[in-house]
Amino acid sequence: MGIVADNLSLIKSSLSLGVTLVAVSKTKPEEMILDAYEVGHRDFGENKVQDLVQKYEHLPKDINWHFIGHLQTNKVKYIAPFIHLLHGIDTEKLLVQVNKEGRKNNRIINCLLQIHVAQEETKFGLSEMELMELLSAGRLSELNNIHIVGLMAMASNTSNKSQVASEFKQVSDLFCRVKETFFDDDKDFTVLSMGMSGDYLLAIENGSNMVRVGSSIFGDRIY
Ligand SMILES: *Cc1c(COP(=O)(O)O)cnc(C)c1O
Repeated sequence: MGIVADNLSLIKSSLSLGVTLVAVSKTKPEEMILDAYEVGHRDFGENKVQDLVQKYEHLPKDINWHFIGHLQTNKVKYIAPFIHLLHGIDTEKLLVQVNKEGRKNNRIINCLLQIHVAQEETKFGLSEMELMELLSAGRLSELNNIHIVGLMAMASNTSNKSQVASEFKQVSDLFCRVKETFFDDDKDFTVLSMGMSGDYLLAIENGSNMVRVGSSIFGDRIY
């Protein structure tokens, strides 16, 4: 087995039952994705539309592609035909656009709403109030070609573990409240995407059931 397969199996063995591992392959070559694919991995994450489209075209069609970056409305059309899950939705305008492209492709596109909890101002996402406002307005029920399946968040980039843990906890509490308030069916709002290489275990301890891990699988990225 190669290094990618070794890293993957090590990480998988540390995950609790029911946690999905998204292998973040951004900037990495297709051969490395195939190394993971060949040992059975199917969920991969990219954050650039152009790279994602290229990899989609070249690689096996049963890969579940996750878009984890900030999506521009004018680029939704390129990934709408095949995307498995959009992680970073944080405006109604974007949801409307995804719905439109979903309809054109005769698909229902799975979306996660991104929540802002980190201290950094540069990170995208909705505040708790904005999220509640968006969901309670009821306008989303008219969007039949999207399916809001959960929340996504990134914690502050800090070595302060209690800070990071408390941010994850804040989002998972919010996730539970939203599920209870807005989704009647238990099967409806189920995904909480939190945790990266440096903090995924802490994220899982605090309620995450989907982690997005890149450098611990594929090595450091060189930009
Ligand atoms: C790059 C990225 C990751 C993975 O980061 P690593 O630290 O390499 O695991 C996870 N989530 C998002 C949104 C990213 O952009």
